[in-house]
Amino acid sequence: MGNPGIRRNRYMPSTIIANATIVTGDAARNVIHGGAIAITDDVISAVGSSADVIASNPGAEVIDGRGKAVFPGLINCHAHLVNVLSRGITEDFGFPPDLPFPVSIYSLISDEERITLATLGAVEAIRSGSTTLLEMASGIDVYAASIAGTGLRLILAENTDDGVVGPDYRPGQPPSGYSAGQRDTKLRRAADLFSSWHGARDGRVTCFASAQLVETSSPELLAEVRAMAERYDTGYTIHLAQSRLEIDTMIATRGLRPSNYLAENDFLGPRLVAAHCRYVDEGEIAALGEARTHITHQPAMAALRAVHPPIPALRDAGCIVGLGTDNNTQDMFEVMRTALRTERVATGNAISPQPEDVVEWATMGSARALQMEERIGSLETGKKADLFMIDMRRAHLVPTMRIVSSFIHNGQPGDIEAVMIDGKWAMRDGRVLTVNEAELIDEVDRIGRRAWTRMIEQHPDVPFSLNLSPG
Ligand SMILES: [Zn+2]
Repeated sequence: MGNPGIRRNRYMPSTIIANATIVTGDAARNVIHGGAIAITDDVISAVGSSADVIASNPGAEVIDGRGKAVFPGLINCHAHLVNVLSRGITEDFGFPPDLPFPVSIYSLISDEERITLATLGAVEAIRSGSTTLLEMASGIDVYAASIAGTGLRLILAENTDDGVVGPDYRPGQPPSGYSAGQRDTKLRRAADLFSSWHGARDGRVTCFASAQLVETSSPELLAEVRAMAERYDTGYTIHLAQSRLEIDTMIATRGLRPSNYLAENDFLGPRLVAAHCRYVDEGEIAALGEARTHITHQPAMAALRAVHPPIPALRDAGCIVGLGTDNNTQDMFEVMRTALRTERVATGNAISPQPEDVVEWATMGSARALQMEERIGSLETGKKADLFMIDMRRAHLVPTMRIVSSFIHNGQPGDIEAVMIDGKWAMRDGRVLTVNEAELIDEVDRIGRRAWTRMIEQHPDVPFSLNLSPG
């Protein structure tokens, strides 16, 4: 192919990855064999044939990309980084978990432990090809600096709610009431996060507003969350229709299904990224589509919950759909593969989606859902230099004539050897450069054992067996 708009920069030395397969992720889904990508500062300054890109960037550092493929960085629209603590535990008990813990495990950890857990989650995200991640949680201010330090592009969404619940609350249950004081406290914490982080790290970190759950959000809270997003000209998010219990609760308490309750309170619309939408009926799908609501689909977690949300119908109705991981894992590679397989099973269609479709969902789809499509989501001149590079010379990948298909069907996150975010290497030659990963892994293993030991010591009647042997 030709040489689409090389932008020369005479002053800054660029980095060029040359002689590689460039999966551009552009609208035409161009894949350039023997191609090159030039990065100047934090942006992509050229994409094209190696000869053209090298000739137009004299003095650039040239990295030989022979045997490598470069993809646009993956964009995770829905993550809870600290929840790596529940790995191996909450995946197997449904949602809300059919496992009656008397208190949340997250009430048994210190701020220091929270920082370490979240940072490990961010490292996992980078290792599996993510360059952007929306973190939705409570108390993000505790660990924001640490996860920003990993180099990830972040959207921080501090949860708010005003539903009054006890320590053993399970999502989906009705709150006992609503508290204006609690609402103000949570909104203030979210506003503080905006003050500290919206636009921080040269714009690499931004914020979203967030109402955590439909069932713990009063109409007043929903109005405040939407107003907060409008004030900062950003988006907002919520968990929506994630369990059957939530549907039953909303009908019992509000006389409306969850999406209809949000519609009635003017909460739907293109600033909203609604997570899950697993149990939406035809009327809700129409309402979500009509309002041009954005959806984030977590196919791997949905599959664990034995459900495939009506994603094709939501897309047909006009929703933009991005992808996310949800709890316990940050592996967007697994998410793409699961999105392809579960949708084929759910629709009985063996030729749709195609691997190129799921790559688009995890890149441009997610970028559109987060309203960042002008800056990220594809390898095109002028966009942010967010990318990952895989080693194609692997027993499970060759031959590599159709690398997108080979990678989605047969690849592994371990094929990813380098990740660049905002023009900086966060990982290179298989090594994460921004943290001491080995120490982090040891520490998280210790934290997990300590926290779950605390749970069992404090609540010996927990009907749950764990092998808590040290080491
Ligand atoms: Zn979630």
